Amino acid sequence: MKLLIKGGRVVDPANDIDAIMDILVEDGIIAEVQVNILDREGEVIDASGKIVCPGFIDMHVHLREPGFEYKEDIASGTRAAAAGGFTTVCCMPNTDPVIDNSTVASFVKERAAKSGVVNVYPIGSITKKQAGKELSEMADLVAAGCVAVSDDGKPVANAGIMRHAMDYAKMFDLAILSHCEEQSLVGDGQMHEGYFSTLYGFKGISTAAEEVMVSRDIILAGLTGAHVHICHASTSGSMELIREAKAKGIWVTCEVTPHHLLLTDEIVGGYDADTKVNPPLRSEEHLEALLQGILDGTVDCIATDHAPHHLERKDCEYDLASNGISGLETAVAGIMDGLVNKGRLEVDKMVELFTVGPADVLGIDKGTLDVGTDADITIIDPQLSKVVDTAEFYSKGKNTPFKGHSLKGWPWMTIVKGKVVAKEGKIVEG
Ligand SMILES: [Zn+2]
Repeated sequence: MKLLIKGGRVVDPANDIDAIMDILVEDGIIAEVQVNILDREGEVIDASGKIVCPGFIDMHVHLREPGFEYKEDIASGTRAAAAGGFTTVCCMPNTDPVIDNSTVASFVKERAAKSGVVNVYPIGSITKKQAGKELSEMADLVAAGCVAVSDDGKPVANAGIMRHAMDYAKMFDLAILSHCEEQSLVGDGQMHEGYFSTLYGFKGISTAAEEVMVSRDIILAGLTGAHVHICHASTSGSMELIREAKAKGIWVTCEVTPHHLLLTDEIVGGYDADTKVNPPLRSEEHLEALLQGILDGTVDCIATDHAPHHLERKDCEYDLASNGISGLETAVAGIMDGLVNKGRLEVDKMVELFTVGPADVLGIDKGTLDVGTDADITIIDPQLSKVVDTAEFYSKGKNTPFKGHSLKGWPWMTIVKGKVVAKEGKIVEG
């Protein structure tokens, strides 16, 4: 089985490649990356005018299975990923039951092998049932294939337990993915605390609610030597804390989401619950700080925090609505449109943030076009313009503030282990 991808702009930051080249795939493996490969035995894909990259990785996804299949399941979530240009996703453990033991982790992997169309790595919980009290058996979780641990959505409130979790995770060089939110500072806040929360009459969530816990976890990472990864960092203060910690040699990494990079709290004024997300959309100065964090290397990767919800949890009053955005199918197009095509972010940096960036955080053998590795490839059409239509989403979650937005620059083809799984936004079944 051979596949030749011809004439695209190959961008592989891990190998310092940015040139018009061909890629030969043989039996699901990258066989050759060269200028003008003459092999004509297999299928040929004309990629001229396209950007050809290592397969994109989204390290922060809620697939909802087991337990919440009415919101999403592994079949629908991985199709949404493929349609959105991702070849690998990591799924968060806030399922029912929680991924706090090897049985549930193995279930997720088996389901992914059977019904999924992209690579799926489970993330185990930090504490049993994500209850914040007793540590999960991390040794079991690692043995079952978990690539990190997180109580995402339910921050570990007790600093002593977080410290023990770091001591334990360090034994396996396992990243602790921390959802940083000091609940006592959040209260019943509904949106970012600032000018627009006052204008719209909503209770606000201060940036301190995030930064207090970012500080705590950085201090604990310094104490224990463990790897803490800050999920969905959203404030200028978080950027400063992480930048400083990195300079000191503390093992901290972080991700930012497309919605925090592209949307401000001003849009909450439409009272559309699809703008409700945790952490909340911030003001312009924070968007600028996140982009600055990307440009100076403070930010390691972009992750969607894909959080599909059922319509009834969003089609209601703002303060009753669930937090979260269905992000897999608009992430790449959003970043291409809002940053790359506007000249604010170089293509190779964007590719790094979606490939080798998250792969390095997790320590997985993905995110490059190295010869001999799985042929996971994402091809982007930088010129294609399309309006976001949630009726076309593969995700069961239609909750996105990007609906109706016209975006330029979309994933064109998604290839997993040498097999074309999505083309022009449509899944290729079989
Ligand atoms: Zn979270």
